[in-house]
Amino acid sequence: MTLKYSICFKKEAITEMYIDSFKKRLSKDGFVYDEENPDYVFFLGGDGTFLRSVHKYIDIVNRIKFVGLNAGTLGFFLDYSTRDIDNLINDLLSGNVLETTYPLLQATVISKKETRQIYAVNEVRIENPFKSLVCDVSINEHKLETFAGNGLIVASSLGSSAYNKSLGGAVIEHNLPLLEISEIASIQNNAYRSLASSLVVGGDRVISFFGKLDEVVIGYDHELIKDMRRVNEIKITLSDKKITLIRKVDHNYIDVLRKAFIIDKEL
Ligand code: NAP
Repeated sequence: MTLKYSICFKKEAITEMYIDSFKKRLSKDGFVYDEENPDYVFFLGGDGTFLRSVHKYIDIVNRIKFVGLNAGTLGFFLDYSTRDIDNLINDLLSGNVLETTYPLLQATVISKKETRQIYAVNEVRIENPFKSLVCDVSINEHKLETFAGNGLIVASSLGSSAYNKSLGGAVIEHNLPLLEISEIASIQNNAYRSLASSLVVGGDRVISFFGKLDEVVIGYDHELIKDMRRVNEIKITLSDKKITLIRKVDHNYIDVLRKAFIIDKEL
C-alpha cells in the first residue's frame, strides 16, 4: 500500500535542505509526497506548527494522521525529535506507535447576514482590545452571567495549556473531552459581576456568547475572522471533526507537562 504524505514546517526552525533529506529518507521506505490528499502529515517545528498543519487540512482532517517532529520548543503535540527520523519511520512502519484521537472545537458564528463554522485545536476567543466587551454567556441555553471585560475564551483540553493557562485556567489532561471558559480581565463591580474564575464543563455542552458583538475580534488558534460584521452570537461546542496524533508508545502526559513547565526550576 502506498503511504501518501505531506510536510508542514516552521521556516524559522527547519531548513529546506533538511526537508529535502527528510523527503529522500521517506521515499526510501515507500512514502509518496501528496500535498493535496495525504494520509500522514509530518509537522516539523513546535506546537504552533501543529495548529497551522491542522488548519491547512481542516476539510479532510478526519482521515489524516498527524506526526510531529520537535525542533526544540515546547512540544505538547510532538513526541519525536527532528534528530529521531530513523526511529520514527521504523515505529510507524512496524505499528509501534500510539494513535490518539481528539475532537476539535467547533464555533458557529452568527451574524445578521450569515452563519459560519470555524474549528480550533486550542481555543476560540472573543476580545475587544479597544473598549469593554459586554455580552451574555449561556450554557445549553441557561444564562450564566452578563460578562464585562476584555474578553472570553473557550479552550479544549488540548488548548488548556496555552492561552487558557496564561489566564489562570486549569490545565486539563488531553484525553478528557472537556470545554473550559476563561475570562480576560473581567470587571467586577456594582454594575457587572461574573464568575471571575475559569469554568470547566462537559464536552457535550454548548456555550453561547451573545449580545452586541459587532466590535469584537474573533480569534481561533492563530487565525482571526476579519471579514464578518454584526456578529450577534457565537456557539461553541466539541466537533465531530477529530484529529489523530501519532505519539510514541511510551507517551506520558505528566512527563510532557513536567518538561514544558516544571523542570527548569530544578536545574
Ligand atoms: P504561536 O507562536 O503559534 O504560539 C504561541 C506559544 O504557545 C508558542 O510557544 C507555542 O508553542 C505555544 N502553544 C501553542 N499551542 C499550545 C498548547 N496547546 N499548549 C501549550 N503551548 C502551546 O502563536 P500564535 O500564532 O499567536 O497563536 C497560537 C496560539 O498561541 C493560540 O492558540 C493561543 O493559545 C496562544 N496564545 C497565547 C497567548 C498567551 O499565553 N498570552 C496569547 C495569544 C495566543 P511552540 O513554541 O512549540 O510553537
